Amino acid sequence: MNAPTRFDALPCFASSLKAIEGLKPPEPLYLVQPEKISSAAKQFLDGFPGDVLYAVKANPHPVALRQLWDAGIRHFDTASLGEIESVKTLLPEAICHFMAPVRLPGQAKAAFEQHGVTDFVVDSESELDKLLDETGKPTKLRVFVRLVTALGGALLEMSSKYGCRPEEASKLLARVAQAGAQPCLTFHVGSQCLSPFSYAQAIEIAQRTITLSGVEIAALDIGGGFPTAYAGQEPPPYHWYFDMIKEALNNLGRPDLKVMCEPGRALVAQGISLVTQVVMRRGDRLYLNDGIYGSFDEQRFISFDEDYPPSGITLDAKGKAKILSGEKRPFRAYGPTCDSADVLPRPVMLPDTIATGDFVMFDAMGAYTVSSRSSFNGYYPDGWALIGV
Ligand SMILES: *Cc1c(COP(=O)(O)O)cnc(C)c1O
Repeated sequence: MNAPTRFDALPCFASSLKAIEGLKPPEPLYLVQPEKISSAAKQFLDGFPGDVLYAVKANPHPVALRQLWDAGIRHFDTASLGEIESVKTLLPEAICHFMAPVRLPGQAKAAFEQHGVTDFVVDSESELDKLLDETGKPTKLRVFVRLVTALGGALLEMSSKYGCRPEEASKLLARVAQAGAQPCLTFHVGSQCLSPFSYAQAIEIAQRTITLSGVEIAALDIGGGFPTAYAGQEPPPYHWYFDMIKEALNNLGRPDLKVMCEPGRALVAQGISLVTQVVMRRGDRLYLNDGIYGSFDEQRFISFDEDYPPSGITLDAKGKAKILSGEKRPFRAYGPTCDSADVLPRPVMLPDTIATGDFVMFDAMGAYTVSSRSSFNGYYPDGWALIGV
């Protein structure tokens, strides 16, 4: 795959419609709007009271990484040696943090020795032993103990697989301190978290853990989970989150405490739209050139209720791209692979005039789309263009 790594290598258009006119894309096309990525990064850099780490798994594409770097993001939440290597290759000055609580043998050692990574997460005794053993220099490490949080306002929970309860976490904290490393805490309230209060609740759990352990922590990483505005969903503005987080942090009574966050979705979702083509319409069924095994993988896991509201776009006799108007009705949208499961889980609302050969554009497709696409059945969405630069 020859992934473009530079903006100047991508075709560039004044608008989405111009891109569709110019490329008539027969394969799925990601339309990147760099300004939207920058403006999301700026909101966090300006408003969050600590370091902002970009969670690379949300979108590891070089174009996203580069744009975030240019917008001022210097810290990267990486979960594997592979992610660390791709970040460091593109951005040698980037600071990587290894925030996966269970690591493949040897990966902590390579991250520490070859890439200077000193922040790691653990949620078990055995991973702590492995980490101390592999790095051999505990005084250089900050070790973040991962807490479970209450099921709350998130549409995708993140506490059933990783994390421990305050009792166990407090023992781990004490062991980290004993080993000579800097004890720290972290959690993830769940992705697309629509409730700012979830963060305050989780910070309270952190507080309880600190009290139980009697250990003074060196840093608190409040994770990701910040939502993005998908159609039909209006999350509270980020400053509500930041205010609630600051208030909860105040209650810890540690003004010197280093704080971090790890947004993924919130930084990249709005910056990419996806153009698909209707390969065939049959009644109320649309067969698109992208689906569940491509850009829509996350749709299998996330619990939305809303219908999809993409734009239908057609090329007129002169080749001009036009947004189809008219009353919308529900369609079933199938992906291109031969698997019956390759169908969007909810209805796609489009005007009844949509026809074979027309285009369907989905907005806010920058997060958990590019990162989890597969080449199942020989389909791999990988068309790229820039809008508005
Ligand atoms: C996935 C993940 C993130 C990013 O989550 P978003 O909901 O996209 O903000 C942050 N931290 C960790 C540890 C993660 O696993």
